[in-house]
Amino acid sequence: MFYIDPHIHMVSRITDDYVRMARCGCVAVSEPAFWAGFDRGSAEAFRSYFRQLTEFEPKRAAQFGIHHMSWLCINAKEAEDVPLSREVIALIPEYLNRPGVLGIGEIGLNKNTKNEVVIFQEQVELAMKTDELILVHTPHLEDKYKGTRMILDMLTGDRRVKPERVLIDHVEEHTIKPALDAGFWAGMTLYPTTKCSPDRAVDMVERYGTERIMANSAGDWGVSNPMNMPDFLRALRARGHDHATVHKLVYENPLRFFMQAKRFNLTPPIPLSPMSR
Ligand SMILES: [Zn+2]
Repeated sequence: MFYIDPHIHMVSRITDDYVRMARCGCVAVSEPAFWAGFDRGSAEAFRSYFRQLTEFEPKRAAQFGIHHMSWLCINAKEAEDVPLSREVIALIPEYLNRPGVLGIGEIGLNKNTKNEVVIFQEQVELAMKTDELILVHTPHLEDKYKGTRMILDMLTGDRRVKPERVLIDHVEEHTIKPALDAGFWAGMTLYPTTKCSPDRAVDMVERYGTERIMANSAGDWGVSNPMNMPDFLRALRARGHDHATVHKLVYENPLRFFMQAKRFNLTPPIPLSPMSR
C-alpha cells in the first residue's frame, strides 16, 4: 500500500531511511522547517537551510522514487530572538516560489512565551498576505494544552484564516477535539517515547473518525522512527480497519490537504477517489 509521511525532517535522516521508506510504500514526504538542535544565529544560515530543503533534499528523495515537498519558516525555539526572526521572515518570500513549497511551517509555540506569540502572529500574517497553507507545531511538554488553546484562539480570532488550510500537528488525546471542532486538520505524531504511539493514534481514529486526520513520524535528529508510518498502517489493519479506511488516512488525507497549495507538484500515483471527499 502506498503512503505519505506528511511531517518528517529528512535533513536529519540518512539515505538508508529513504530506501527503507520506499520499500514500505512511501511515495511522498513533506518536510517542515524546524529547529536544528542549536540556534543558527544568522539569517544567512536560514538561507542555506531553505536551499537544502528546496534544492538538495528533493533530489536526494527522488533517487528512491519519493517525492519531497517542504514548508518554510522560523521555528518557535528561535523565535525568542525577535530581530533575527524578523530578518528570516523577510527573506522567506524569496524562497516561497520554489517548486513543492507547500506553505509556512512548522510555526507555533514551544514554551508559550510572548516573543513566540509575536513571531507566530507575524508568520500567520505572512501566510495570509501570500495566500499560503499553514502547518502548526504544538508544544510537547506540560504546556501542550495551554499552548494549543492559545494557537487555536489566535487562528480562529483571525477571520482571514480558513481552518481547512491549516494543519494543527502533534495533537494528542486532549488536544485533537478542539482542533477538529474548529475545522482544522489534525496531525498525530507517532514517536517512540513522547507524543503518540501507533496504537494510541488508532484509538483516536476510532473515537474521532477519519475526516481531516492524518499521521506522521516527524523523524528528526532525536530518538524518532521514520518507519512509524508503516507501523501505523499495520496497527490499523491489526485492529480490523479496511483497506479504504487505511488508504484514506495514510494517503488521501495528506494529499487532499496538500493539494490546496499553490505549488503542490506531485502527480499522485493513485488518483483521489471522489467517494471519500
Ligand atoms: Zn517537526
